[in-house]
Amino acid sequence: MSTQQTQNRAPSKKSTAKKFYIETFGCQMNEYDSLILTKLLEKENGISTRTPEQADLIVLNTCAVREKAHTKVYNRLRSLEYLQKKGKKIGVIGCMAQNLREELLYENLPLDFIAGPDSLREIGQYLHGKEAGTHLTLSKTETYEDVIPTVEHHLNNTENKITAFVTIQRGCNNFCTFCVVPYTRGRERSRSVQSIVQEVQNLVDGGIQTVVLLGQNVNSYRYQDTDFVGLVKALLNHTDIERIYFTSPHPKDYPMELIELMAENPRFCNQAHIPLQSGSDSVLKRMKRNYTAKEFLSLIQRFRETVEDVAISTDVIVGFPGETEEDFQQTLEVMEKAEFDSAFMFAYSERKGTIARKRFIDDVPEEVKKRRLNQMIDLQLKRSKAKNEAYVGKTVSVLVEAEAKRSSQQNPQFVGKMRNARKVVFPTPNEKVTIGDYVNVQIDSASSVTLFGNFIGKAEKPTLKRV
Ligand code: SF4
Repeated sequence: MSTQQTQNRAPSKKSTAKKFYIETFGCQMNEYDSLILTKLLEKENGISTRTPEQADLIVLNTCAVREKAHTKVYNRLRSLEYLQKKGKKIGVIGCMAQNLREELLYENLPLDFIAGPDSLREIGQYLHGKEAGTHLTLSKTETYEDVIPTVEHHLNNTENKITAFVTIQRGCNNFCTFCVVPYTRGRERSRSVQSIVQEVQNLVDGGIQTVVLLGQNVNSYRYQDTDFVGLVKALLNHTDIERIYFTSPHPKDYPMELIELMAENPRFCNQAHIPLQSGSDSVLKRMKRNYTAKEFLSLIQRFRETVEDVAISTDVIVGFPGETEEDFQQTLEVMEKAEFDSAFMFAYSERKGTIARKRFIDDVPEEVKKRRLNQMIDLQLKRSKAKNEAYVGKTVSVLVEAEAKRSSQQNPQFVGKMRNARKVVFPTPNEKVTIGDYVNVQIDSASSVTLFGNFIGKAEKPTLKRV
């Protein structure tokens, strides 16, 4: 769970100002929605607070991807009951509200209103006395592109002061059978190029060097005649952002032009997330992923052949309905061939409203899912470590992002990222390093997630290559 708050900004009519508190669960897109909501509530003369106790309005911005996320929200709501008794308004917004709908209101929870991700503009009423309500209309057009969070909104409460996440696209048309997103976030729509360029340049002016473009289906971005490649080119040509990453994509939306752009322009960083989900064609078909294992592997090969030192991450689900031992072995084989640098691996859990829940029986026993998941994680961790160890002895260029957790006055340490998003930790005993610097680090050891090395010296800031 992460918490999203903003610093108090002076509103024009202090005497009528109401205070609000937002707590965010789930993915970066939810974090971004909380920034939008903060901005919307500030426009309504609201003031953000750091604790629910200080607030008149408490909003939990929720996720519906896993059962665990639901349980967390229920527990959090129960812990806030005493505040509702004191007259504070409590709302659940986001994917869980959209997914469970009115069901949530009958659970005997301390809850005054629910709102889906497309109803953020409705929340302001609860600062001004509205008692209760349900706001679950999904929009075909809402992108909140007129509500651009400031750099202060982005940076408040984050340790990494040079990176910002920017939503460019909302919703999904793919209807993978296991996924709840098309039902909780609706159909695909994209923000205008101009609003994204403006937000990214504002962020650069405020000190941001890295931007992560977000969307449920980010590389299916299309605004009028501009596709995702066109958008990235616009950002490279019309902003001074130094590094661009993006997530989360679908394998079908990786045209060669996009891969070539990544190869040609170092600002469009050599890191790609390509969700596999399963390596078995029959499971992929039941998941409605619209590619085969062979097609997936040829996409990986195109990346590896075209983009130097590219790092590829993935998502995999084990225990999808009907997954046999053979299906599972096929997934491990594809993972072996793809040589993923890292992976997010999950055991299947049925989600309300999905096609999989309606059509298939969740028939893989929990202990089998657990065993398969552990086996997969084990193999992937070994592979990730081996891939990281390949850098031992090499000198790599790192953009310094923050002080490392273990840093102290006696032993200052920093953490930063290589262009392909590998995390590097290094001590700087006698050197003055500043966040945002580019430095050279010689790698001397590696774990499955981090490289460790020695500071060699500062490096020149790369020039901003245009397209
Ligand atoms: S493409 Fe992603 S967001 Fe869309 S349905 Fe499939 S898994 Fe869900």
